[in-house]
Amino acid sequence: MANVGYDDTPQLPNQEWLVHDGSRPEPRVVTPGTDAGAPSDAVVLFDGTDLSKWKGRDGAAAWKVEDGYMEATRSGDIETVEQFGDCQLHLEFRSPEVVKGDSQGRGNSGVFLMGLYEIQVLDSYDNPTYADGGAGSIYGQHPTLVNASRKPGEWQTYDIIFIAPRFDGDTLVSPACLTVLHNGVLAQHAQASDGPTGHRSVSSYSSDHPAAGPLKLQDHGDLVRFRNIWMRPLPASDHT
Ligand code: MG
Repeated sequence: MANVGYDDTPQLPNQEWLVHDGSRPEPRVVTPGTDAGAPSDAVVLFDGTDLSKWKGRDGAAAWKVEDGYMEATRSGDIETVEQFGDCQLHLEFRSPEVVKGDSQGRGNSGVFLMGLYEIQVLDSYDNPTYADGGAGSIYGQHPTLVNASRKPGEWQTYDIIFIAPRFDGDTLVSPACLTVLHNGVLAQHAQASDGPTGHRSVSSYSSDHPAAGPLKLQDHGDLVRFRNIWMRPLPASDHT
């Protein structure tokens, strides 16, 4: 291949490469999806047809699958069989069209990275609740930067970049870090988490934290739907 760069340019700070280095490896090729569909290197976790990548409380995931979506059925949370650490996640969710309840009782579900870090799913359209519990919040810790919720019954998107916490032995080196786009609007920007999320409790890290975990979807008793769920596990070289 012809040399497309330079070999007489200055060294980049903190990198092993020169400016415009002709010998620097090209980025890997990924074919993007269309209409928010999965790119070529994604793990498709739900394509609208079945729950084969998921398990539930008593074995097989028992949520309803219909017309290209899954719906919580008051049968308990579901989680992926596969485990993930650092990742990029896309999913779409829909609150019930018929509004019932208020605050935390309206369209409540949740997206748990590693099964531990909840990005709240809630019908937050004209529905006041405690700020660290609205849609797009890191539950019980960090409110969404803005409320970008669509109306009940409309499909909404989350695009999440999750970096798992790092430990050196028993010492926390870097906390979990989350970036969240809600309907394409920035909801969390490289936000450090205080630890695995909880209800009415302060989060903290413990050194027995797993290196990977499942993606979990919460069944909070509301008929929340999900569709088009895909995950790109991120090698460290993609974000460091
Ligand atoms: Mg929830």
